[in-house]
Amino acid sequence: MTRTSSARRRRAVFLDRDGTVSEYVEYCCRPEDFRLLPWAGQAIRTLNETQLLVVLATNQSAIARGLLTMEGLAAIHEKMRQELTRCGARLDGIYVCPHHPDAGCVCRKPEVGMLRQAAEHHQISLSESYVVGDRRLDVLLGRAANSTTVLVRSGHPLEPANGVVPDHEAPTLLEAVQWILRQEAARAKRAVRRLGTATSATEITVR
Ligand SMILES: [Mg+2]
Ligand SMILES: [Zn+2]
Repeated sequence: MTRTSSARRRRAVFLDRDGTVSEYVEYCCRPEDFRLLPWAGQAIRTLNETQLLVVLATNQSAIARGLLTMEGLAAIHEKMRQELTRCGARLDGIYVCPHHPDAGCVCRKPEVGMLRQAAEHHQISLSESYVVGDRRLDVLLGRAANSTTVLVRSGHPLEPANGVVPDHEAPTLLEAVQWILRQEAARAKRAVRRLGTATSATEITVR
């Protein structure tokens, strides 16, 4: 019997795309429609400098609706990759649900299929990971995965809470990342206390 201990598993920050990393548009169907938010590169680069993986998880029902092809999506993501590279930032994984909301698939957020797939590929502990997005469904996704949730207000018009409360709210991804790094620093401190010695612990710098 094989068992993966949680100590050996990695942690990740799962990012929503539209309204979180890029400007919110209802359906982004052409590279020209895709605009990285001005702070996204810096925010992702900051995460890249930690041990956290950065994984994009996005619902793109425009594909099932016939508004966008897989090639079109690849072109949009190539533009995103180039703009992030220019900022010294990178994504460790990109997961897309191309299905229609009525299809009943297991990957459309708030279903956890994309996160489970990423967890399997990268040996990620979802309960020690974060989910950041601009919609309540991102919060629901994070909750379903038992992750820590951050709602950003840089995208979709604010939706009624309906009892779906994130662990934290931030104006943009940049403040969300700063909050996550504070949680990571607190976590490292707790680990030091558990060890009873400050010598063997990993330090996490908060910028
Ligand atoms: Mg969004
Ligand atoms: Zn799907």
